[in-house]
Amino acid sequence: MSNHLFDAFRARMPAPERLLMETDDGRSITYGDMLARSAQLAHALLQLGVEPGDRVAVQVEKSPQAVLLYLACLRAGAVFLPLNTAYTLTELGYFFGDAEPRLVVCDPARAAEIGRLAESSGAVIATLEGNGEGSLMDQASRQSSDFHDVVRGPDDLAAILYTSGTTGRSKGAMLSYENLASNARVLVDHWRFTAADVLIHALPIFHTHGLFVATNVILMAGASMLFETKFDPARIVSLLPRATALMGVPTFYVRLLQQDGLNRQAAKNIRLFVSGSAPLLAETHKAWRERTGHSILERYGMTETNMNTSNPYDGERRAGTVGFPLPGVALRIADAENGETLARGEVGMIEVKGPNVFAGYWRMPEKTKAEFRDDGFFITGDLGLIDADGYVHIVGRGKDLIISGGYNIYPKEVESEIDSLPGVIESAVIGVAHPDFGEGVTAVVVRAPASTITAADIVDAIAGRLAKYKHPKRVIFADELPRNAMGKVQKNLLRETYKDLYA
Ligand code: ATP
Ligand code: MG
Repeated sequence: MSNHLFDAFRARMPAPERLLMETDDGRSITYGDMLARSAQLAHALLQLGVEPGDRVAVQVEKSPQAVLLYLACLRAGAVFLPLNTAYTLTELGYFFGDAEPRLVVCDPARAAEIGRLAESSGAVIATLEGNGEGSLMDQASRQSSDFHDVVRGPDDLAAILYTSGTTGRSKGAMLSYENLASNARVLVDHWRFTAADVLIHALPIFHTHGLFVATNVILMAGASMLFETKFDPARIVSLLPRATALMGVPTFYVRLLQQDGLNRQAAKNIRLFVSGSAPLLAETHKAWRERTGHSILERYGMTETNMNTSNPYDGERRAGTVGFPLPGVALRIADAENGETLARGEVGMIEVKGPNVFAGYWRMPEKTKAEFRDDGFFITGDLGLIDADGYVHIVGRGKDLIISGGYNIYPKEVESEIDSLPGVIESAVIGVAHPDFGEGVTAVVVRAPASTITAADIVDAIAGRLAKYKHPKRVIFADELPRNAMGKVQKNLLRETYKDLYA
């Protein structure tokens, strides 16, 4: 009997003295250290009363110890439940009430208030600071560095990850050992990771991108990472020569492009730049290729499904697309209303099925039922199409679809036109309640610093290119678009801000 995911990591583990992580303050953690310290942490979990299947809620600053805690949960059979460091006490109250953790691990600075909250929902508390100190590590340091991994099968629950809350209240996605193991294996293969790779890890680790895509891929390949506690573009540029790969959200790439030191020479040892979590502008893709000689590989995933599609490793990485379904993933475009599969080129709901797809939403059986088709396909909520060459395009979220005067308008089509105009940095097109049209197409546009482009210029430029019903009824200029920690544009906030625009 075995531990389905941790055994897979063990099977590919390089020699114990090989580097797993190097931190931004110069500390090294080898694979041997990882084994010993995650064992100690696993013992500490047991001592704190955590049993297999119990949830361990973790709201801590990014640190190597937080990664070791994740691994300790796997080894102890506990369900890892990371929480965004930005969540307030009220939000934490919701998550604790929903997930009923046995143990809450938090920053010592917040231990008093979070402790009271944890206690009222029946959890015990331990602390972990960004520098790796705290009561949890104190307890762990007294434990044996050997641990008998708890038996966990493919279908056992490994983690509950709450979705980013971009479209509404976050939902807890139940991810099994096999969901994580299968996706990590596929990505290692598809993106050709080996023990020789060095990944720059600058993503948060409370989200699927930094936690599972980045960390699990590295562990599954026996590779190393330069573990950055935050994203500092100048520092990332200086690290490039020592690395072979970078995974980032689109804003990383936009901000790296603003660095003078970014050029072909700096990027010459890198073999792979990956982008995901939000759409990468075709403009960014192009600018990156011109500056570094590399085509960014864009992929598409979700908390609920891990990664679904990827642009090819060899072959054309097509800007504005998310590539092809990954091996083992079935993907179809369906009529959102009746679920019928649509023809190539038609826009509809993206639905996926495969070993990567989660078991359901934690304690939301109705919601889970509503989001799966009878034949097991998960309804992603994203709208897209498959083009003549098989590339998947995402045109936006179902919830962002605008219906104006009875016509469907896909925001991305309008945004792409606006973004391509000189003097425009980016835009977000939303539907706002309108007395005549139901919803009015509304564009929120960020101009380049010296740009004098006007609303009329934008509408005029679009007029020759898009049907009239797609033209923005209003163009609003803003200094920036509201984004969350993963660089996702928060259209729900924009809709709220401008809700009375046509009233
Ligand atoms: P919530 O479900 O709580 O509203 P969320 O969907 O933003 O939040 P995540 O699971 O973090 O939470 O994000 C998944 C979503 O991110 C996808 O459904 C898709 O809309 C978007 N996404 C991810 N990768 C890409 C990409 N490469 N291009 C466009 N969109 C992407
Ligand atoms: Mg979602």
